[in-house]
Amino acid sequence: MRIRGLACLLLLLVCAVPCVSAQSSSEASPPQQVQPSSGQEKPAYSLPPEKLGRAIAYSRIRVLLDLAGSGWGMLQLLLLLSLGVVAKMRNAAVDLSKNRWVQGFTFTLLLLAITTVLDLPLDLYGQHAARVYGQSVQGWGSWAWDAAKSFLLTFVFGGLLVMLLFWVIRKSPDRWWFWFWVPAMLFVLVAVFVAPVILDPLFNKFEPLEKTNPALVERLEQVVARGGITIPPDRMFLMKASEKVTTLNAYVTGYGASKRVVVWDNSINKATPDEISFIFGHEMGHYVLNHIPATLLFLGVLLLVEFYLGSRGIRWLLHRLGPRWKIPSQDDWGALVVLLLVLSVLSFFSEPIVNGYSRLHEHEADVYGQEAIHGIVEDPQKVAQQSFQLLGEMSLTDPNPNPLVEFWTFSHPSVASRAAFAAKYNPWIEGGHPKYFVRGTH
Ligand SMILES: [Zn+2]
Repeated sequence: MRIRGLACLLLLLVCAVPCVSAQSSSEASPPQQVQPSSGQEKPAYSLPPEKLGRAIAYSRIRVLLDLAGSGWGMLQLLLLLSLGVVAKMRNAAVDLSKNRWVQGFTFTLLLLAITTVLDLPLDLYGQHAARVYGQSVQGWGSWAWDAAKSFLLTFVFGGLLVMLLFWVIRKSPDRWWFWFWVPAMLFVLVAVFVAPVILDPLFNKFEPLEKTNPALVERLEQVVARGGITIPPDRMFLMKASEKVTTLNAYVTGYGASKRVVVWDNSINKATPDEISFIFGHEMGHYVLNHIPATLLFLGVLLLVEFYLGSRGIRWLLHRLGPRWKIPSQDDWGALVVLLLVLSVLSFFSEPIVNGYSRLHEHEADVYGQEAIHGIVEDPQKVAQQSFQLLGEMSLTDPNPNPLVEFWTFSHPSVASRAAFAAKYNPWIEGGHPKYFVRGTH
């Protein structure tokens, strides 16, 4: 489900942070130490013919949906502006009341409603395809209810951000990009902190992993101990993903008091304890290597640059097209749409940067995970490679994704390259150098 609007932009930023370890999407900066499989050798990740066709078809659909979503997102804002719809919405909001709160929230509601309707065909088709290809088992009622909750959250928090934005724009017409960035980052920090406690439970059920899987927790504590850190069992959660999807996943989320590891129940049902240990080891890598704070910092800087460019872009556009769009100045409610248009263009072009950064973290976590299970599972290389095989098969991942698509849209290295790396990565042999663990500990 795509959500839009300024708040959504920030919420998306929040959503992007929890690192989804196993997700099918992703391509790679070719990791070092991987040799292309030669000759007849079976690749580390492959699909049987009947699955391969479906995987290629489904990957194609997702890529097209992704591209169409970005393109349509920008185009619809442009259309709303040039057809005068934005000006009409602004008039409706201003005519309703003199109170700025009423105006701001009315305009936000109208904009959110119209963009939600315009996005609906793609959203519906995305969910339809996920069901057809066996990725989703969520009924349409439940899907609609999730969409309604997203809408409501976006309206409330988006409305508040819009009020704040316009207050800052009025107070500091020249430097609002910086003065809005400060509270926006604060908002993101609070949102990331409370997301696992307040937001996530609105969409999925969570319970302590220990409750249903005490033996697994014991096993995972072995991996934790090997990492020389502590993740108490009450920071390990089981998410009942199987009510909605069939794919496997685990992730680390929150920070400080809300930091936790979440394992999807699908992973536990379909993977072996060894494979779960590897998946968990990967997540522990994110946890130990402080990937969440690093990502927040990285995205924070990027957001500052985007806000600055956004402020320049909005002036330029209003100067040239403001009269035609009937939006006289940047403190007009309609300017919000101009800003969103500029930000959506910027965020599309920054996608490769954000995803490239994410792929670096994912690769680090893969290395960490494989080193972490050394001495705990019999053959870490095989276990890691099998985990990727399983993840790819469950998510119908194309073994040979388009390189440009990978570069632009993949937040994780491709499953094929991750599997190939895992199969070859053995730092424990004579002359090898483990990256995160000391030789001889096992
Ligand atoms: Zn990850």
